[in-house]
Amino acid sequence: MEPVIQVEHLTKQYAGVRALDDVSFAIEPGQWVAIMGPSGSGKTTLINILGGLDTPTGGRALVDGVELAGLDEEALTRYRSEKVGFVFQQFHLVPYLSALENVMLAQYFHSMTDEKQAAESLRRVGLGDRLTHLPSQLSGGEQQRVAIARALINQPKILLADEPTGNLDEKNQQIVLNLFHELHAAGQTILLVTHDPGIGRLTDRRIELTHGRLVQVVPGAEEEVRFDHLLEEILICGERGTEACVEQLAGVGPLEVNHLLAHMSELDLLHRTDSHITLTDRGRKRACDLVRRRRLAERLFMDTFSIDDPEADDHACKFEHIISPDLDEKICTFLGHPRTCPHGHPIPPGPCCRPNGSSSNQPLPIKSLL
Ligand code: ADP
Ligand code: MG
Repeated sequence: MEPVIQVEHLTKQYAGVRALDDVSFAIEPGQWVAIMGPSGSGKTTLINILGGLDTPTGGRALVDGVELAGLDEEALTRYRSEKVGFVFQQFHLVPYLSALENVMLAQYFHSMTDEKQAAESLRRVGLGDRLTHLPSQLSGGEQQRVAIARALINQPKILLADEPTGNLDEKNQQIVLNLFHELHAAGQTILLVTHDPGIGRLTDRRIELTHGRLVQVVPGAEEEVRFDHLLEEILICGERGTEACVEQLAGVGPLEVNHLLAHMSELDLLHRTDSHITLTDRGRKRACDLVRRRRLAERLFMDTFSIDDPEADDHACKFEHIISPDLDEKICTFLGHPRTCPHGHPIPPGPCCRPNGSSSNQPLPIKSLL
């Protein structure tokens, strides 16, 4: 799977202002990514360059394998109407055209109008009964939904949304976010500019800018869980005395594993040379914590609650992501600091376990857990 967006050392210099400064990242198809950062940090500049509305002064931006700087005016116009859907904070609807006509205008610029299809796309955003309304006869939330229908009408490769909920009240913000959520679930690649951390947390990952520089790329919750699974696999390979390699980890999907590993390497969780993988100190610590929580949970479910596999395993799998360090210590102490899981695998010791193994090994009353 090739990245749909690839940004390499991207720079945009205005007279006296560096709006983007050596920014690099890649986005895979289907990802929902939040672009975050304070006002003036370069978010709009980045979106405009990716949308072919502005040109960089340095570096490259590739969308769907095409370098945007290589396109002439005519090709850029085609690019904007075929590959990109835009949603702006200020809606930018044509005031004297109805909702339906606003959507049809985008069809017209792309190829030819199709009223049925335009109406269908408005129905998809819940505006089937507003087709003939003018923008001034629609609420802010409804206008933004027309803009989303317009952005999607030509089935763009990427949807670029610059603070799309910035002008909406909370209720309409929720409606628009739900819409983005549905589009994401249907496989749409989305870049959404926001400075609301709550919105950022809904996405697959966050790209954070400050003064035009990329500060960090933060994985979303789902991606973190995938990282966790790979970290555990790698640690368990080590326990078995085998070195982890890409082929062994391909359970998550052979193509996806490469992207996950690349991202984990960026985050200093592992080193990778060819197909061989080793954990960094940071990666090892995280993997040990995970495996420890999982195996403690297995002990708890099987020994204390008499739940057998596969249910115990299933519960333990979920538990490893939600047990806090505090609860981890409580469970470990409650179980008498066990050294192995019910299947005989070692439980990595935690801060509550004494190094010489002189812990009492006496299970405590169950109320000590509560
Ligand atoms: P954001 O969207 O994160 O608020 P922008 O990308 O709009 O930030 O702007 C980044 C920086 O570039 C700001 O300092 C802004 O003043 C400057 N800038 C943006 N557009 C222009 C322009 N056309 N001419 C000069 N400076 C600009
Ligand atoms: Mg902006």
